[in-house]
Amino acid sequence: MPTLIKNAIVITLDAEMAVHDRGWLRIEGDRIKAVGAGDPPLDFAAEVIDADGDIIMPGMVNPHCHMAMSLFRGLGEDVDDRLFRYILPIERKFVTAEMVRTGSRLAALELIQGGVTTVADMYYFETEVGRVVDEAGLRGVVGQTLADFQPPDHASFDEGFERVEELVAEFSGHDRVTPSIAPHAPYSTGVPVMARVAQWAADHPDVPVQMHLAEMESELDWCAKNHALRPVEVVELAGLLRKGLIAAHCLLVDEADIAALARNGVGVAHNARSNGKAGRGIAPIEAMRKAGIPVGIATDGAMSGNTLDLFSQFAPVSIFQKLLGHSRKPMPAAEVIRMATIEGARVLGLDARIGSLEPGKQADLIRIDLSAPRLHPIYDIYSMLVFAAIASDVRDVMVAGRWLMRERKVLSLERKKVLRDALQIASALKAEMTAIDAGR
Ligand SMILES: [Zn+2]
Repeated sequence: MPTLIKNAIVITLDAEMAVHDRGWLRIEGDRIKAVGAGDPPLDFAAEVIDADGDIIMPGMVNPHCHMAMSLFRGLGEDVDDRLFRYILPIERKFVTAEMVRTGSRLAALELIQGGVTTVADMYYFETEVGRVVDEAGLRGVVGQTLADFQPPDHASFDEGFERVEELVAEFSGHDRVTPSIAPHAPYSTGVPVMARVAQWAADHPDVPVQMHLAEMESELDWCAKNHALRPVEVVELAGLLRKGLIAAHCLLVDEADIAALARNGVGVAHNARSNGKAGRGIAPIEAMRKAGIPVGIATDGAMSGNTLDLFSQFAPVSIFQKLLGHSRKPMPAAEVIRMATIEGARVLGLDARIGSLEPGKQADLIRIDLSAPRLHPIYDIYSMLVFAAIASDVRDVMVAGRWLMRERKVLSLERKKVLRDALQIASALKAEMTAIDAGR
Protein backbone atom coordinates (compact mmCIF):
# COMPACT_ATOMS: atom_id res chain seq x y z
CA MET A 1 0.00 0.00 0.00
CA PRO A 2 1.38 3.47 -0.84
CA THR A 3 2.19 5.79 2.09
CA LEU A 4 1.33 9.46 2.24
CA ILE A 5 3.08 11.57 4.89
CA LYS A 6 1.44 14.97 5.32
CA ASN A 7 1.65 18.01 7.56
CA ALA A 8 5.45 17.81 7.80
CA ILE A 9 8.34 20.23 7.44
CA VAL A 10 9.92 18.54 4.43
CA ILE A 11 13.65 19.25 4.08
CA THR A 12 14.40 17.96 0.59
CA LEU A 13 18.16 18.57 0.17
CA ASP A 14 17.46 18.86 -3.56
CA ALA A 15 19.59 21.12 -5.80
CA GLU A 16 17.59 24.20 -4.70
CA MET A 17 17.70 23.14 -1.02
CA ALA A 18 13.90 23.41 -1.00
CA VAL A 19 12.19 23.25 2.39
CA HIS A 20 8.37 22.90 2.47
CA ASP A 21 7.18 24.29 5.80
CA ARG A 22 3.91 22.43 5.43
CA GLY A 23 4.72 19.67 3.03
CA TRP A 24 3.88 16.14 2.04
CA LEU A 25 5.50 13.12 0.48
CA ARG A 26 4.05 10.11 -1.31
CA ILE A 27 5.87 6.76 -1.24
CA GLU A 28 5.15 3.81 -3.53
CA GLY A 29 7.07 0.58 -3.02
CA ASP A 30 10.69 1.42 -2.31
CA ARG A 31 10.57 4.85 -3.97
CA ILE A 32 9.45 8.42 -3.46
CA LYS A 33 6.66 9.08 -5.94
CA ALA A 34 5.94 12.76 -5.25
CA VAL A 35 6.88 15.60 -2.91
CA GLY A 36 4.89 18.79 -2.48
CA ALA A 37 3.90 21.80 -0.38
CA GLY A 38 0.54 22.50 1.25
CA ASP A 39 -2.34 20.03 1.24
CA PRO A 40 -1.60 16.79 -0.61
CA PRO A 41 -3.92 15.67 -3.41
CA LEU A 42 -6.80 13.53 -2.07
CA ASP A 43 -5.69 9.93 -2.00
CA PHE A 44 -7.95 7.19 -0.68
CA ALA A 45 -5.65 4.34 -1.67
CA ALA A 46 -2.72 5.32 0.58
CA GLU A 47 -1.98 4.90 4.27
CA VAL A 48 -1.97 8.51 5.49
CA ILE A 49 0.44 9.55 8.23
CA ASP A 50 -0.05 12.96 9.83
CA ALA A 51 3.45 14.12 10.87
CA ASP A 52 1.97 16.75 13.17
CA GLY A 53 4.44 19.41 12.06
CA ASP A 54 7.56 17.25 12.59
CA ILE A 55 10.52 17.26 10.20
CA ILE A 56 10.85 14.73 7.40
CA MET A 57 14.35 14.70 5.89
CA PRO A 58 16.57 12.27 3.99
CA GLY A 59 18.06 9.41 5.99
CA MET A 60 21.65 10.23 6.85
CA VAL A 61 24.82 8.73 5.38
CA ASN A 62 27.79 7.63 7.50
CA PRO A 63 30.61 7.06 4.96
CA HIS A 64 33.22 5.54 7.30
CA CYS A 65 32.55 3.07 10.06
CA HIS A 66 33.83 -0.15 11.62
CA MET A 67 30.53 -1.49 12.91
CA ALA A 68 31.86 -4.54 14.74
CA MET A 69 34.25 -2.36 16.72
CA SER A 70 31.29 -1.01 18.69
CA LEU A 71 32.27 -3.83 21.08
CA PHE A 72 35.52 -1.89 21.75
CA ARG A 73 33.72 1.32 22.71
CA GLY A 74 35.60 3.03 25.56
CA LEU A 75 38.29 0.34 25.71
CA GLY A 76 41.70 1.71 26.74
CA GLU A 77 40.62 5.37 26.97
CA ASP A 78 43.44 7.94 27.06
CA VAL A 79 46.18 5.30 26.66
CA ASP A 80 48.50 6.53 23.90
CA ASP A 81 49.72 3.09 22.75
CA ARG A 82 46.37 1.33 23.15
CA LEU A 83 46.34 0.16 19.51
CA PHE A 84 49.38 -2.05 20.10
CA ARG A 85 48.79 -2.65 23.82
CA TYR A 86 45.15 -3.74 23.61
CA ILE A 87 43.39 -3.51 20.26
CA LEU A 88 45.62 -5.55 17.93
CA PRO A 89 46.20 -8.42 20.41
CA ILE A 90 42.49 -8.50 21.28
CA GLU A 91 41.48 -8.42 17.60
CA ARG A 92 43.80 -11.34 16.82
CA LYS A 93 42.43 -13.41 19.68
CA PHE A 94 38.73 -12.53 19.76
CA VAL A 95 37.58 -11.34 16.34
CA THR A 96 35.59 -14.17 14.78
CA ALA A 97 32.63 -14.29 12.43
CA GLU A 98 30.35 -14.49 15.46
CA MET A 99 31.94 -11.52 17.20
CA VAL A 100 31.64 -9.46 14.01
CA ARG A 101 27.98 -10.40 13.73
CA THR A 102 27.27 -9.42 17.34
CA GLY A 103 29.16 -6.13 17.19
CA SER A 104 27.64 -5.20 13.86
CA ARG A 105 24.13 -5.80 15.23
CA LEU A 106 24.85 -3.52 18.18
CA ALA A 107 26.06 -0.91 15.68
CA ALA A 108 23.05 -1.36 13.41
CA LEU A 109 20.70 -0.67 16.33
CA GLU A 110 22.60 2.49 17.20
CA LEU A 111 22.76 3.67 13.58
CA ILE A 112 19.02 3.22 13.05
CA GLN A 113 18.15 4.97 16.32
CA GLY A 114 20.37 7.88 15.29
CA GLY A 115 18.75 8.33 11.88
CA VAL A 116 21.56 6.84 9.78
CA THR A 117 20.14 4.87 6.86
CA THR A 118 23.32 4.25 4.85
CA VAL A 119 26.68 3.19 6.25
CA ALA A 120 30.04 2.46 4.64
CA ASP A 121 31.91 -0.14 6.67
CA MET A 122 35.35 -1.69 6.51
CA TYR A 123 36.44 -4.60 8.67
CA TYR A 124 37.13 -8.34 8.72
CA PHE A 125 34.64 -11.16 8.08
CA GLU A 126 32.84 -8.47 6.10
CA THR A 127 30.35 -10.93 4.58
CA GLU A 128 28.88 -11.14 8.10
CA VAL A 129 28.63 -7.35 8.24
CA GLY A 130 26.77 -7.40 4.92
CA ARG A 131 24.34 -9.97 6.30
CA VAL A 132 23.67 -7.86 9.40
CA VAL A 133 23.17 -4.69 7.30
CA ASP A 134 20.72 -6.69 5.19
CA GLU A 135 18.75 -8.18 8.11
CA ALA A 136 18.61 -4.76 9.83
CA GLY A 137 17.10 -3.29 6.65
CA LEU A 138 19.88 -0.70 6.33
CA ARG A 139 21.71 0.32 3.19
CA GLY A 140 25.45 -0.28 3.20
CA VAL A 141 28.74 -0.31 1.33
CA VAL A 142 30.58 -3.16 3.03
CA GLY A 143 34.34 -3.36 2.51
CA GLN A 144 36.48 -6.41 3.18
CA THR A 145 39.69 -5.06 4.72
CA LEU A 146 43.12 -6.19 3.48
CA ALA A 147 46.10 -5.61 5.77
CA ASP A 148 49.55 -7.04 6.53
CA PHE A 149 49.41 -7.08 10.37
CA GLN A 150 48.05 -10.63 10.71
CA PRO A 151 44.40 -9.61 10.80
CA PRO A 152 41.97 -12.20 12.17
CA ASP A 153 40.51 -13.39 8.85
CA HIS A 154 43.46 -13.60 6.45
CA ALA A 155 47.05 -14.72 6.89
CA SER A 156 48.12 -13.48 3.44
CA PHE A 157 46.88 -11.04 0.83
CA ASP A 158 45.90 -13.98 -1.40
CA GLU A 159 43.56 -15.12 1.36
CA GLY A 160 42.34 -11.55 1.78
CA PHE A 161 41.39 -11.43 -1.91
CA GLU A 162 39.52 -14.73 -1.42
CA ARG A 163 37.48 -13.05 1.36
CA VAL A 164 36.74 -10.19 -1.08
CA GLU A 165 35.61 -12.63 -3.78
CA GLU A 166 33.26 -14.38 -1.32
CA LEU A 167 31.77 -11.03 -0.31
CA VAL A 168 31.26 -9.94 -3.92
CA ALA A 169 29.73 -13.31 -4.84
CA GLU A 170 27.17 -13.01 -2.04
CA PHE A 171 26.12 -9.39 -2.56
CA SER A 172 26.64 -8.38 -6.18
CA GLY A 173 23.32 -7.14 -7.54
CA HIS A 174 21.83 -6.68 -4.04
CA ASP A 175 19.46 -3.69 -3.80
CA ARG A 176 20.80 -2.28 -0.55
CA VAL A 177 24.15 -3.94 0.16
CA THR A 178 27.07 -2.98 -2.09
CA PRO A 179 30.21 -5.12 -1.69
CA SER A 180 33.48 -3.20 -1.54
CA ILE A 181 37.23 -3.81 -1.29
CA ALA A 182 39.13 -2.03 1.47
CA PRO A 183 42.93 -1.93 1.51
CA HIS A 184 43.50 -0.80 5.12
CA ALA A 185 45.99 2.05 4.51
CA PRO A 186 49.14 2.73 2.44
CA TYR A 187 51.54 1.58 5.21
CA SER A 188 49.62 -1.61 5.99
CA THR A 189 49.29 -2.78 2.39
CA GLY A 190 52.22 -1.33 0.42
CA VAL A 191 52.45 -0.21 -3.19
CA PRO A 192 52.43 -3.68 -4.86
CA VAL A 193 49.22 -4.69 -3.02
CA MET A 194 47.58 -1.32 -3.70
CA ALA A 195 48.49 -1.75 -7.39
CA ARG A 196 46.91 -5.22 -7.30
CA VAL A 197 43.76 -3.73 -5.75
CA ALA A 198 43.73 -1.03 -8.46
CA GLN A 199 43.92 -3.70 -11.16
CA TRP A 200 41.22 -5.78 -9.45
CA ALA A 201 39.00 -2.69 -9.10
CA ALA A 202 39.43 -1.86 -12.78
CA ASP A 203 38.11 -5.34 -13.56
CA HIS A 204 35.19 -4.83 -11.12
CA PRO A 205 33.94 -1.30 -11.90
CA ASP A 206 30.84 -1.68 -9.69
CA VAL A 207 32.85 -2.47 -6.56
CA PRO A 208 33.91 0.69 -4.67
CA VAL A 209 37.31 0.93 -2.97
CA GLN A 210 37.64 2.27 0.59
CA MET A 211 40.79 3.06 2.50
CA HIS A 212 42.30 5.10 5.35
CA LEU A 213 44.43 7.86 3.84
CA ALA A 214 46.67 10.64 5.17
CA GLU A 215 45.52 9.96 8.71
CA MET A 216 48.62 10.22 10.88
CA GLU A 217 52.21 11.39 11.22
CA SER A 218 53.62 7.84 11.28
CA GLU A 219 51.99 7.29 7.88
CA LEU A 220 53.73 10.42 6.52
CA ASP A 221 57.01 9.06 7.88
CA TRP A 222 56.45 5.63 6.30
CA CYS A 223 55.66 7.19 2.91
CA ALA A 224 58.65 9.56 3.12
CA LYS A 225 61.03 6.79 4.17
CA ASN A 226 59.93 4.17 1.65
CA HIS A 227 59.01 6.30 -1.35
CA ALA A 228 60.12 9.88 -0.62
CA LEU A 229 56.50 10.84 -1.25
CA ARG A 230 53.42 11.95 0.65
CA PRO A 231 50.57 9.46 1.33
CA VAL A 232 48.32 10.79 -1.45
CA GLU A 233 51.24 10.58 -3.89
CA VAL A 234 51.99 7.00 -2.85
CA VAL A 235 48.38 5.97 -3.52
CA GLU A 236 48.55 7.78 -6.89
CA LEU A 237 51.80 5.99 -7.71
CA ALA A 238 50.02 2.67 -7.06
CA GLY A 239 47.25 3.69 -9.49
CA LEU A 240 44.65 3.61 -6.75
CA LEU A 241 43.83 7.33 -6.67
CA ARG A 242 40.77 6.74 -8.83
CA LYS A 243 37.19 7.85 -9.35
CA GLY A 244 34.98 6.40 -6.64
CA LEU A 245 37.76 5.87 -4.09
CA ILE A 246 36.29 6.50 -0.62
CA ALA A 247 39.18 7.95 1.37
CA ALA A 248 38.75 8.18 5.14
CA HIS A 249 40.39 11.04 7.08
CA CYS A 250 42.60 12.94 4.54
CA LEU A 251 43.82 14.94 7.49
CA LEU A 252 47.43 15.47 6.45
CA VAL A 253 46.94 16.84 2.94
CA ASP A 254 48.60 19.87 1.37
CA GLU A 255 47.48 21.95 -1.63
CA ALA A 256 49.00 19.57 -4.17
CA ASP A 257 47.37 16.57 -2.43
CA ILE A 258 43.98 18.28 -2.49
CA ALA A 259 44.40 19.04 -6.21
CA ALA A 260 45.29 15.38 -6.84
CA LEU A 261 42.28 14.10 -4.87
CA ALA A 262 39.98 16.47 -6.81
CA ARG A 263 41.54 15.66 -10.21
CA ASN A 264 41.06 11.93 -9.65
CA GLY A 265 37.44 12.08 -8.44
CA VAL A 266 38.11 10.82 -4.90
CA GLY A 267 35.49 11.25 -2.15
CA VAL A 268 36.44 11.94 1.46
CA ALA A 269 34.93 10.67 4.72
CA HIS A 270 35.62 13.25 7.44
CA ASN A 271 35.93 11.93 11.01
CA ALA A 272 36.14 15.09 13.13
CA ARG A 273 35.49 13.55 16.55
CA SER A 274 37.67 10.50 16.03
CA ASN A 275 40.57 12.64 14.72
CA GLY A 276 40.12 15.16 17.53
CA LYS A 277 39.99 12.54 20.24
CA ALA A 278 43.24 11.00 18.98
CA GLY A 279 44.83 14.47 19.07
CA ARG A 280 45.66 14.18 15.37
CA GLY A 281 44.34 17.46 14.03
CA ILE A 282 41.64 18.91 11.83
CA ALA A 283 41.14 17.92 8.21
CA PRO A 284 41.01 20.95 5.87
CA ILE A 285 37.54 20.11 4.60
CA GLU A 286 36.65 23.67 3.57
CA ALA A 287 39.61 23.67 1.18
CA MET A 288 38.76 20.18 -0.08
CA ARG A 289 35.12 21.06 -0.75
CA LYS A 290 36.18 24.30 -2.49
CA ALA A 291 38.32 22.14 -4.79
CA GLY A 292 35.20 20.13 -5.66
CA ILE A 293 35.90 17.06 -3.53
CA PRO A 294 32.71 15.61 -2.02
CA VAL A 295 33.09 15.26 1.75
CA GLY A 296 30.79 13.22 3.97
CA ILE A 297 30.53 13.20 7.77
CA ALA A 298 31.57 9.93 9.39
CA THR A 299 31.87 8.47 12.86
CA ASP A 300 34.75 6.03 12.35
CA GLY A 301 34.45 3.02 14.68
CA ALA A 302 33.09 3.45 18.19
CA MET A 303 36.56 2.52 19.47
CA SER A 304 37.86 5.82 18.05
CA GLY A 305 34.93 8.20 18.49
CA ASN A 306 32.79 6.28 21.04
CA THR A 307 29.58 6.84 19.11
CA LEU A 308 27.98 6.10 15.75
CA ASP A 309 25.74 9.11 16.23
CA LEU A 310 26.08 11.64 13.41
CA PHE A 311 24.31 14.40 15.36
CA SER A 312 27.18 14.40 17.85
CA GLN A 313 29.60 14.95 14.93
CA PHE A 314 27.85 18.04 13.61
CA ALA A 315 29.01 20.60 16.17
CA PRO A 316 32.67 19.53 16.04
CA VAL A 317 32.59 19.45 12.22
CA SER A 318 31.39 23.04 12.12
CA ILE A 319 33.30 24.36 15.16
CA PHE A 320 36.67 22.91 14.11
CA GLN A 321 36.48 24.74 10.75
CA LYS A 322 35.46 27.98 12.53
CA LEU A 323 38.47 27.59 14.83
CA LEU A 324 40.76 26.99 11.86
CA GLY A 325 39.37 30.10 10.14
CA HIS A 326 39.16 32.23 13.33
CA SER A 327 35.71 33.26 12.19
CA ARG A 328 32.02 32.40 12.56
CA LYS A 329 31.68 32.08 8.80
CA PRO A 330 33.24 28.75 7.81
CA MET A 331 31.07 25.63 7.53
CA PRO A 332 27.53 27.00 7.83
CA ALA A 333 24.95 24.62 9.27
CA ALA A 334 23.18 24.02 5.94
CA GLU A 335 26.47 22.74 4.51
CA VAL A 336 26.88 20.34 7.43
CA ILE A 337 23.46 18.83 6.72
CA ARG A 338 24.29 18.62 3.00
CA MET A 339 27.43 16.66 3.89
CA ALA A 340 25.43 14.33 6.15
CA THR A 341 22.98 13.53 3.35
CA ILE A 342 23.38 14.20 -0.38
CA GLU A 343 27.13 14.86 -0.32
CA GLY A 344 27.81 11.74 1.76
CA ALA A 345 25.76 9.84 -0.83
CA ARG A 346 28.02 11.30 -3.53
CA VAL A 347 31.11 10.12 -1.66
CA LEU A 348 29.68 6.58 -1.89
CA GLY A 349 28.58 6.97 -5.54
CA LEU A 350 24.93 6.59 -4.48
CA ASP A 351 23.70 10.16 -5.02
CA ALA A 352 21.52 9.21 -7.99
CA ARG A 353 19.53 6.89 -5.68
CA ILE A 354 19.61 8.42 -2.19
CA GLY A 355 20.57 11.54 -0.20
CA SER A 356 17.63 13.81 -1.05
CA LEU A 357 13.84 13.63 -1.05
CA GLU A 358 12.95 13.80 -4.75
CA PRO A 359 10.57 11.80 -6.96
CA GLY A 360 12.19 8.62 -8.24
CA LYS A 361 14.71 8.35 -5.42
CA GLN A 362 14.70 5.56 -2.84
CA ALA A 363 12.39 6.18 0.11
CA ASP A 364 15.14 6.53 2.74
CA LEU A 365 13.90 9.10 5.24
CA ILE A 366 13.72 10.04 8.89
CA ARG A 367 11.22 11.90 11.03
CA ILE A 368 12.58 14.33 13.63
CA ASP A 369 10.28 14.86 16.61
CA LEU A 370 10.07 18.59 17.37
CA SER A 371 8.41 18.32 20.78
CA ALA A 372 11.57 19.07 22.83
CA PRO A 373 11.83 22.69 24.07
CA ARG A 374 15.55 22.47 23.25
CA LEU A 375 14.64 22.72 19.56
CA HIS A 376 12.66 25.98 19.70
CA PRO A 377 12.29 28.63 18.42
CA ILE A 378 13.47 27.71 14.92
CA TYR A 379 14.94 30.65 12.99
CA ASP A 380 17.30 28.50 10.93
CA ILE A 381 16.22 24.91 10.57
CA TYR A 382 19.72 23.70 9.65
CA SER A 383 21.39 25.32 12.66
CA MET A 384 18.71 23.75 14.85
CA LEU A 385 19.62 20.31 13.43
CA VAL A 386 23.38 20.89 13.73
CA PHE A 387 23.64 22.56 17.15
CA ALA A 388 20.47 21.66 19.09
CA ALA A 389 19.07 18.34 17.87
CA ILE A 390 20.28 15.04 19.35
CA ALA A 391 20.02 11.49 18.07
CA SER A 392 17.07 10.62 20.30
CA ASP A 393 14.98 13.30 18.54
CA VAL A 394 14.80 10.86 15.61
CA ARG A 395 11.40 9.25 15.93
CA ASP A 396 10.85 7.17 12.79
CA VAL A 397 13.25 5.72 10.19
CA MET A 398 12.42 4.32 6.75
CA VAL A 399 14.75 2.63 4.25
CA ALA A 400 13.59 1.63 0.76
CA GLY A 401 9.97 2.22 1.76
CA ARG A 402 10.17 -0.04 4.84
CA TRP A 403 9.88 1.30 8.38
CA LEU A 404 12.93 0.24 10.42
CA MET A 405 11.88 2.29 13.45
CA ARG A 406 8.55 3.72 14.61
CA GLU A 407 8.17 5.78 17.79
CA ARG A 408 11.86 4.97 18.63
CA LYS A 409 11.25 1.20 18.58
CA VAL A 410 13.54 -0.59 16.13
CA LEU A 411 11.43 -3.12 14.24
CA SER A 412 14.14 -5.04 12.39
CA LEU A 413 16.34 -6.14 15.32
CA GLU A 414 15.67 -7.59 18.77
CA ARG A 415 17.12 -4.96 21.07
CA LYS A 416 17.33 -7.07 24.23
CA LYS A 417 19.02 -10.00 22.54
CA VAL A 418 21.48 -7.77 20.70
CA LEU A 419 22.52 -6.08 23.97
CA ARG A 420 22.76 -9.37 25.87
CA ASP A 421 25.03 -10.93 23.22
CA ALA A 422 27.22 -7.79 23.10
CA LEU A 423 27.68 -7.64 26.88
CA GLN A 424 28.68 -11.29 26.98
CA ILE A 425 31.56 -10.66 24.55
CA ALA A 426 32.50 -7.44 26.37
CA SER A 427 33.02 -9.31 29.64
CA ALA A 428 35.54 -11.61 27.93
CA LEU A 429 37.37 -8.58 26.50
CA LYS A 430 37.46 -6.98 29.95
CA ALA A 431 39.07 -10.08 31.44
CA GLU A 432 41.68 -10.07 28.67
CA MET A 433 42.54 -6.40 29.36
CA THR A 434 43.03 -7.18 33.03
CA ALA A 435 45.35 -10.03 32.04
CA ILE A 436 47.32 -7.72 29.70
CA ASP A 437 47.66 -5.09 32.44
CA ALA A 438 48.87 -7.75 34.89
CA GLY A 439 51.43 -8.87 32.28
CA ARG A 440 49.99 -12.36 32.14
ZN1 LIG B 1 38.67 3.95 10.33
